[in-house]
Amino acid sequence: MSLGDPLEPVPPPVAGARAAPEDFWRRVPLAAMSAAQWESLCDLCGRCCLEKFVNRRNGKVHYTDVPCAWLDPVSCTCRNYAERRQRNPECVPLSPANLHRCRWLPRTCAYRLLAEGRELAWWHPLVSGSGDSVHGAGISLRGRPLHTAPVPPEDLARHMVDWPIWSRRARPD
Ligand code: SF4
Ligand code: SF4
Repeated sequence: MSLGDPLEPVPPPVAGARAAPEDFWRRVPLAAMSAAQWESLCDLCGRCCLEKFVNRRNGKVHYTDVPCAWLDPVSCTCRNYAERRQRNPECVPLSPANLHRCRWLPRTCAYRLLAEGRELAWWHPLVSGSGDSVHGAGISLRGRPLHTAPVPPEDLARHMVDWPIWSRRARPD
């Protein structure tokens, strides 16, 4: 799959296919997961690393096309994950304890899906077995027209975007 083509289709799983036996996320509560299990839940979509606004009146989250300066727009991962809090004081490392407060997470986020008692989608790397499926399904930021130049806080509102959360081929069933 070409890195530059986020629209490359990824076939959905065969109907009725079972998740791999190591589908720990169905058996282990979020709060009881090991650090490795917890980290592997991240599908590396990168969406949570976009600047965003929360409407205080209705709680609606508005994303922008401005990523954190530490986000690699191709891999959609943090360039310094281990020191993310030092690099960006506004970065919020997720944990079972703060998940319920992170209502700005996208609806596709694995942590949010599981916290809401829902299933991981077919394109999640743990389900598909491929790290490319999140990009091929159009969920990640790869290939999106990101604005990577610095934007002063007072100009961020001009960068709000309304990208579809679920692309047609990524929609679960
Ligand atoms: S939105 Fe959720 S799944 Fe996507 S990169 Fe952020 S933490 Fe990971
Ligand atoms: S510092 Fe935080 S918000 Fe920025 S890219 Fe890294 S994980 Fe994302």
